[in-house]
Amino acid sequence: MKLSQYYIQTLRETPSDAEVVSHKLMLRAGMIKKAAAGIYSYLPLGLRVIRKVENIVRKYMNEAGAIETLMPSVVPAELWKESGRWFVYGKELLRFKDRHDRDFCFGPTHEEVITDIVRNDIKSYKQLPVNLYQIQTKFRDEVRPRFGLMRGREFIMKDAYSFDIDNEGAEVSYNKMKEAYCKIFEACGLKYRMVDADSGAIGGSFSHEFMVLADTGEDFVISCDNCNYSANIEKAVVVDKPEENTEALASVEERLTPGQKTVEEVAKFLNLPTKKIVKTMILKVDENVVAVMIRGDHELNLPKVKNYLGGSVIEFADKNDIEMVSDGPMGYSGPIGLKCKVYADNAIKHLKNYVVGGNKKDLHLLNVNHERDFKIEAFGDFRNATPGDTCPECNKGKFQLTKGIEVGHIFKLGTKYSEAMNCVFLDKDGKAKPMIMGCYGIGIGRTAAAAIEQNHDEKGIIWPVQLAPFEVVVVPLNTNDEDVIKTADNIYTRLLNKGVDVCIDDRNERAGVKFNDADLIGYPVRVNVGKKALADGCVEIHIRKSGEQINVLIDDACDKIINVIEGLKQ
Ligand code: ATP
Ligand code: MG
Repeated sequence: MKLSQYYIQTLRETPSDAEVVSHKLMLRAGMIKKAAAGIYSYLPLGLRVIRKVENIVRKYMNEAGAIETLMPSVVPAELWKESGRWFVYGKELLRFKDRHDRDFCFGPTHEEVITDIVRNDIKSYKQLPVNLYQIQTKFRDEVRPRFGLMRGREFIMKDAYSFDIDNEGAEVSYNKMKEAYCKIFEACGLKYRMVDADSGAIGGSFSHEFMVLADTGEDFVISCDNCNYSANIEKAVVVDKPEENTEALASVEERLTPGQKTVEEVAKFLNLPTKKIVKTMILKVDENVVAVMIRGDHELNLPKVKNYLGGSVIEFADKNDIEMVSDGPMGYSGPIGLKCKVYADNAIKHLKNYVVGGNKKDLHLLNVNHERDFKIEAFGDFRNATPGDTCPECNKGKFQLTKGIEVGHIFKLGTKYSEAMNCVFLDKDGKAKPMIMGCYGIGIGRTAAAAIEQNHDEKGIIWPVQLAPFEVVVVPLNTNDEDVIKTADNIYTRLLNKGVDVCIDDRNERAGVKFNDADLIGYPVRVNVGKKALADGCVEIHIRKSGEQINVLIDDACDKIINVIEGLKQ
């Protein structure tokens, strides 16, 4: 590609509405352009990156036996009504009518459409298993579209759906996708973690998220510093560690704590560490009000409580419910005298002489002890994991906390859609059975954005070679010097002939402008062809990632460049 004939639209200024690095740099490098909130055009350079991600995804999906297809973006409401999601999906689903007043939506995901296809085509166990995928534009009317391609409203996703005759088969299909995903993110040159997204379950679980590690991630990832255990912070299992506490029990004391509301304020006021303050959270699980006690330095984990108690909706109780069970105001609840069941996080088990709310405004109770002062229904794992907690898998390592960007998600659906939509097959015994499904998503644009979050510096993007819009840029430094032009052209053509993804910056610009653009756009390798080095028969190879500059003889240049590219892929 000759950049003089290409579409390079770099910006010097950072657009003011961009908050994260990938968004800023994609706009500045002229890769995307905003059309509306969360809706972007992919400009030519950006599209090249998108296509590279897509092709890597395609390669490993095909290799794993998945078959590419393409479904419509505009989906008739009937299918969504059949699955029931038309009524529960909410405002994220973009709905509209055609000229005949029929309801449609713009597909945010395609379980319904694929289930409809497969139920019509597949009749017998002999035709299964099958895994179909597509790479397609989705629309979700996200509440807060932000961060450019990271959380758009319109975005490109790879979605795959597997259909099996039984659970063992579904597990095989699931594991094939798990392996394919690892290969995909590896081939993209990204540092990632596969995390357990099934609450509680260790081993054999059927929901995993793939997280690219980056400081700007919206997800918190817990990982063990000793083994491979990794989980979303909300899902990470906290081990109940036996502990010896020989502290003698002291008598309960009432203490006025005027105006001290937060755990930190109360701890400071009483001159105690926050772990001595215990929060009593009043919750509503379906129609039942319960209390859950959590140590002041820990965070309540609602999904864990919900799983433990087995309700379907869990929320914080409102003012009325709190007043009803505690006879006191919101914000001062404590376990003594509560008219509901009290549960406590495992960490409370070994705690003695702690502080709780007094169920009266501005009142706290000191030296409170369970068993002696009130009854705990049961202890459980009700809190978020914290760095330093012991790993539940190896029982040795400690948890570390990192931030991650969810780029992929694999999930065993079971028979949710096949039952609702009657997607059945005839088994060997002649009986009709629902197919067991799995679904597997990758955010294509989000993966590209995540790559930037992980690989950039103050000058711009540092693309992993595998995703770069071009692997190499050849830069003639003096555009009015015939020797320079000829040599640059020659290297460019030779690289092209060797199959290198190369462009030549033959624009009539100063060298400084070309360098700045090259650093911003993030080509992994830049070849400088200038008068001075040419006098010695040399050109310079500049490696974006390391900043290394290598002088090579013109004749050796192509081999060396190919060498460097291969090295960068490792
Ligand atoms: P999130 O929790 O980030 O909203 P999700 O759980 O809704 O993601 P899935 O429905 O599992 O996501 O979609 C599969 C993949 O599609 C995600 O792993 C992510 O990479 C991508 N994705 C989802 N929503 C968006 C979005 N608004 N913009 C860009 N990519 C997205
Ligand atoms: Mg979402």
